Amino acid sequence: TKWVYRFGDGAAEGGAADVALLGGKGANLAEMASLGLPVPPGMTITTEACLFFFSKGKALPDDLQAQVLSALVDMEKITGRTFGQGPHPLLLSVRSGARASMPGMMDTVLNLGLNDQTVQALGHDSGDARFAWDSYRRFIQMYGDVVMGLDHEVFEEVLEDEKARLGHDYDTELSAVEWQHVVSLYKQVIEEELGEAFPQDCHLQLWNTIKAVFSSWTNTRAVTYRTLHKIPHDWGTAVNVQAMVFGNLGSTSATGVAFTRNPSTGENSLYGEFLVNAQGEDVVAGIRTPQSLTEEGRLASGSEKPSMEKLMPEAFAEFRDICNRLEAHYGDMQDVEFTVERGKLWMLQTRSGKRTTRAAMKIAVDLVDEGVITREQAICRIDPPSLDQLLHPTIDPRVERVVLGSGLPASPGAASGEIVFTAEDAVDAEAEGRKVVLVRIETSPEDIHGMHAAEAILTTRGGMTSHAAVVARGMGIPCVVGAGGLRVDLRNELLIGPGFTLKKGEMITVDGSSGQLLKGDVPMIQPALSGDFGRLMAWADETRRMTVRTNADTPQDARAARSYGAEGIGLCRTEHMFFEGGRIHVMREMILAEDEAGRRAALDKLLPMQRSDFTELFTIMSGLPVTIRLLDPPLHEFLPKSAEEIIEVAAAMDMEPALLSRRVEALHEFNPMLGHRGCRLAISYPEIAEMQARAIFEAAAAAASETGAPVELEIMVPLVGLRSELDYVKACIDKVAADVSRETGLDIGYLAGTMIELPRAALRAHVIAETAEFFSFGTNDLTQTTFGISRDDAASFIPTYQRKGIIEQDPFISLDFDGVGELIGLAAERGRKTRPDLKLGICGEHGGDPASIRFCEQMGLDYVSCSPFRVPIARLAAAQAAI
Ligand code: PEP
Ligand code: MG
Repeated sequence: TKWVYRFGDGAAEGGAADVALLGGKGANLAEMASLGLPVPPGMTITTEACLFFFSKGKALPDDLQAQVLSALVDMEKITGRTFGQGPHPLLLSVRSGARASMPGMMDTVLNLGLNDQTVQALGHDSGDARFAWDSYRRFIQMYGDVVMGLDHEVFEEVLEDEKARLGHDYDTELSAVEWQHVVSLYKQVIEEELGEAFPQDCHLQLWNTIKAVFSSWTNTRAVTYRTLHKIPHDWGTAVNVQAMVFGNLGSTSATGVAFTRNPSTGENSLYGEFLVNAQGEDVVAGIRTPQSLTEEGRLASGSEKPSMEKLMPEAFAEFRDICNRLEAHYGDMQDVEFTVERGKLWMLQTRSGKRTTRAAMKIAVDLVDEGVITREQAICRIDPPSLDQLLHPTIDPRVERVVLGSGLPASPGAASGEIVFTAEDAVDAEAEGRKVVLVRIETSPEDIHGMHAAEAILTTRGGMTSHAAVVARGMGIPCVVGAGGLRVDLRNELLIGPGFTLKKGEMITVDGSSGQLLKGDVPMIQPALSGDFGRLMAWADETRRMTVRTNADTPQDARAARSYGAEGIGLCRTEHMFFEGGRIHVMREMILAEDEAGRRAALDKLLPMQRSDFTELFTIMSGLPVTIRLLDPPLHEFLPKSAEEIIEVAAAMDMEPALLSRRVEALHEFNPMLGHRGCRLAISYPEIAEMQARAIFEAAAAAASETGAPVELEIMVPLVGLRSELDYVKACIDKVAADVSRETGLDIGYLAGTMIELPRAALRAHVIAETAEFFSFGTNDLTQTTFGISRDDAASFIPTYQRKGIIEQDPFISLDFDGVGELIGLAAERGRKTRPDLKLGICGEHGGDPASIRFCEQMGLDYVSCSPFRVPIARLAAAQAAI
């Protein structure tokens, strides 16, 4: 088996297409090497070797050694150095690199190949003994932590003590001799703590490190990260073994990270940070605050420290050129890492850069304008659920801002919450339903769960590429980093700034767009959906086949949905109108009436209320289809439940509490979801359906004469299982339609249809379609009735099912294609056989879920309908499904 793929010196054995085998980092290093870019030579040990390693109880393949050694010989030839000996020792970096990026979750070892001999050689060779001993101690520290399992804090302590003894404040103040002494202390502490010596055999160092990096695939952090990001656990990681280049060889050396465009706004300008005389990990760790790459960036940040553009003009020019080439080559914004070693530029990594949704939009649209990608590609570049980020509120510009401090605007949007200082407190607060802002000096991968639980994140240290910034952008959580004017006192749980001290639990607002931290809970407004968003969505609208409607019960919902681009109403749940204001009393009068006459009297009062609601809805949706569903829930849902409520309601209705109590009891059902609801109500009490139909038709007539454009009216009967049920209810509606037509002199057209919410309805679709002119799949109930899982009780065991691997997805969130989906396919096919122009749609929650929308496209449905906020998501997902 070929386990090792080489790269370097203008050639490579793999390429960008080999991500599954070589991991993202390895595949792109190979690609860059093939492009002739300056990449330190190296090799990638495949993910297959990692899978082998785990399948054999953590043993490496027998034939791996020879392949690694042979690739090492190549690296020696290219670099003119020798691994494990002088006079020019070859040092290695050994890094993980999985198929999907898992920033900071797995292990890395740098400067491998140093021992008591090679450190001397490195000193002579570089002419910098201090650098050599510093590198050696860094290596021992990383190796001791990653391979030997000694907590890195043990080393930190040794170093801090030594610095204190020597009277140094900063690492940079230590001399060669002093670092040499730290090395001996490090070796000593390893022996003391582990009873074993730090290995001098460089080959042993290498093999142990390869195994440790493979093993880090299953460390707790990495496993949690994969679970959160739905990355399969059986992919494994590759290991990249590469010749070291040094950003810490004095003032002509540097290391940095960059995005080829701004990852926060999407603006087309090189964006990044670097540190002079530093090694790679120093930038990401956020320990020193880095400098801007470009002059433009420096000016924007108001920093005094010179940019790379100014400081290293030649290396910078080459770097900018390479960034442009990489973007053109990959057709996307790249996130790159580089090092300058004594003036010579080296590229260490490139990958598609993580970005905010706003930036993703702008970049996709700009790349189309630049002729780099097609509109279809642009549409597919945006993850539909991420549009949610654009719907995030921002701070109302009319309110006065009480600014407590500011930092870098790392992730846009604004949010308020109580201050908490630990990830655990954030998680606990979320569980109690409280909103919190997580305030940290800086964050690390250990804080991920707390970051998830928080509304916003604030750190006092670190740059735009610090852990907090990268992760928050990925999660779409507002974030401000590097708020240097503020101080976190962890022990006393205080956030201290100029002239104020805030305690844990106090409200603050983080504005990730401006970088400001504001006092209290600040009013927010919804963003405008124009510009790049508008253009990309317009392309999506041209591309998709299905229409997107909304589930809206109120004029307010309907208006919001229209502003998000809804093309009609797919479901109006009329019962929601009965809960408003004083209507519930009239509704109760109707339900509690002794006979039909009593019910009709109450219904006469409800009629004008429903009519005015419908008129407003129809006016808002003028010219578009509107599906009104007849009353669906069991009647006792409208009645009081507790004894206190019964007393209250009885008093309001001028009724004996005992009598009311008896009526409530009489309406009690053991299994209401399968009880007296849906069309069963209309069959028991046709006068209810008649009233609703009259309200609908009269409203349609009124709206049509007002707007001049008739609505496309659809009346929907819920929970039908038998054609005869639909026939009965349709006859009631038809009669009212004829009456209203006669009374108004208007011919009011409408379609009569049904929801498909029961397996029987799906199976008998060909028969039901003889009456129904449209079907709307009510996948909430259809999932409930197909699985026999109560949708209101599922939450008590579905998470357990998921944890135990019984099911992967909650079927109430993402459609069960195999079971419920088969019923949908069957019903669509059978229904259309009877009635070729049968309109088909979906109005369950799944109508806003991208995976389910793709399925609807495959089934050839005419439309999806979802809640107003998800309309943009559905528009985009429907377009992607059609591509
Ligand atoms: C459904 O069952 O999918 C549906 C849309 O109706 P409701 O959620 O009101 O039961
Ligand atoms: Mg339903």
